Amino acid sequence: MKEIILLKYGELVLKGLNRSTFVALVEKRVRNLLSGVSGSFSLRYAQSTLCIRPSEDADVDTAFALMKRVFGVASVCRGYECGKDMDAITSAVREKAPELLGRASTFRCNAKRSDKKFPYPSPEISAICGGAVLDVMPHLKVNMASPDVTLTVEVRDDAAFIHGGGERGAGGMPTGSGGRALLLLSGGIDSPVAGYMIAKRGLYVDGLYFESPPYTGDQAREKVVALAQKIKGYTGKMFLNTVSVTEIQEEIVKKCDERTFTLMLRRFMMRISDRLAEEFGIGALVTGESLGQVASQTLEALSVTDAVPTRPVLRPCIGMDKSEITDIARKIGTYDISILAYEDCCTVFTPKHPLTRPTPEQIEAEEAKLDVEGLTERALATREVIRL
Ligand code: ATP
Ligand code: MG
Repeated sequence: MKEIILLKYGELVLKGLNRSTFVALVEKRVRNLLSGVSGSFSLRYAQSTLCIRPSEDADVDTAFALMKRVFGVASVCRGYECGKDMDAITSAVREKAPELLGRASTFRCNAKRSDKKFPYPSPEISAICGGAVLDVMPHLKVNMASPDVTLTVEVRDDAAFIHGGGERGAGGMPTGSGGRALLLLSGGIDSPVAGYMIAKRGLYVDGLYFESPPYTGDQAREKVVALAQKIKGYTGKMFLNTVSVTEIQEEIVKKCDERTFTLMLRRFMMRISDRLAEEFGIGALVTGESLGQVASQTLEALSVTDAVPTRPVLRPCIGMDKSEITDIARKIGTYDISILAYEDCCTVFTPKHPLTRPTPEQIEAEEAKLDVEGLTERALATREVIRL
């Protein structure tokens, strides 16, 4: 009996988006991920489900794990394909029930017949297959309301499948359906989470890391590279840029009111990001800011920062608590990297008493002391692209 992996697309999303574009983007991402897995895989899309058929020698465990990071997929099932007649289905159920039901003590059978020419209606298939399970696992109890495992039998146009229910997929929108965003990626906990959340909405995410050599070092940079790798694991493609803000920070420290240091730097970050985004045709900026978390993330501070860029600044963490952000960071594997303690450019010149309620006039007056254009251009000239 052949093993299969089924990817189920959320029905709602399918209605909202152009179906064929959606399906093609998911398939592209799936092929891209599977190209790194041993064995070969054939793909066939039908009835809101992508069926992946691995070759005999394929590494199905790895393939299955990778499929859980494909955006646009609501659930991922692993199961078996069998012939489309009742005898073949019941013997498949008898053979595979011990594996698919594992240590469950209660189960139910749920049959879906999308091929309406199949001679048995769904309730009858469920009943027959439930009986087949009990033949080989007589200790199991049937529980229709909340079983430990639902053994699912799908009778489709081209084949019949059995599986033990799906695991949750990555959700979201297929990668590439929403354009591109530029993530201001620090080594902290929040910005990688913000990048993941925007990637999940179907965007490719490129990264921009601001460093301050010699105040920040190689280890801080490597940490950001490692974080970017994690985000790239979800989209398959990512450019990571670095820009030095050393001169900008030194000028700010020399000429501006200490209470405004962080905000001044943040405005430069936005200006530089906006220019890069312009150059590369990127539609939005992304930050990990969360309302009220630190002095530079009050409403007044955010509006002073937001006044600089011309494109939207997406802040998916804005309404989240640190603990909620941390949960996601753990889930996507960035947390352990983020907590490594290396200097960040923001912490290099941190004011003791930052302004929490800045006014635009106050900030503009401070900025007037600087050669904003020259500093921005020279910072942009330090840009490097790191290969991930
Ligand atoms: P994070 O955990 O993401 O660093 P944070 O809570 O520490 O966030 P800040 O340090 O104030 O907050 O930074 C706010 C946002 O500004 C970050 O989420 C990130 O998007 C951006 N940012 C801060 N420092 C840098 C940097 N060195 N390079 C690129 N972006 C940065
Ligand atoms: Mg930070």
